[in-house]
Amino acid sequence: MIKYSLKCKNGHLFDSWFSDNNSFEYLQKSKNLECEICSTKEVEKSLMAPSLRAEEKKKEGFLTTKGALEKEILSLKKKIKTTAEDVGKEFASEARAIHYGESVERPIYGKTTKGEAIELAKEGIPFVPLPWNDDKLN
Ligand SMILES: [Zn+2]
Repeated sequence: MIKYSLKCKNGHLFDSWFSDNNSFEYLQKSKNLECEICSTKEVEKSLMAPSLRAEEKKKEGFLTTKGALEKEILSLKKKIKTTAEDVGKEFASEARAIHYGESVERPIYGKTTKGEAIELAKEGIPFVPLPWNDDKLN
C-alpha cells in the first residue's frame, strides 16, 4: 500500500491509499478518482511534501496578532466567570475532590501554584492552564 497526497482542480488536498503507483494511474486515467470534498474527477498527485502540509495544519487555529489573542482570552475568561465556580486558591484540592468523586462535578476555576498544577497533571486530573491577570480583568 502506498499513500499519496492528492489535489483536485479546485485546490482541495486529501490523502488516499493505493496498492501501488500503477493502480493510482489506472484509477486516475479511468476517472475513478474523486475529490473527497467536491467530488470532481479531476484529481492529481499533490506535489506538496507531507511535512509541509502538517506544518500548515498546525498553524490553523492560531491567532497571530497580539490584540486578537488578548481579546480572545478576555472573552474566554468572561465565559468562564459566568459558567464556572470560582474556588480561588482551593482550585487544586477542589479539582482533585471532583476528580475522585468527593465533590459535586461542575466547572470550576481558580488559582494554583506551579507545583500543585504539576501534581494535578501527574494524577491525570484534567485542567487547562490560562494566562490569568486579575488586575487587567477587573
Ligand atoms: Zn475538490
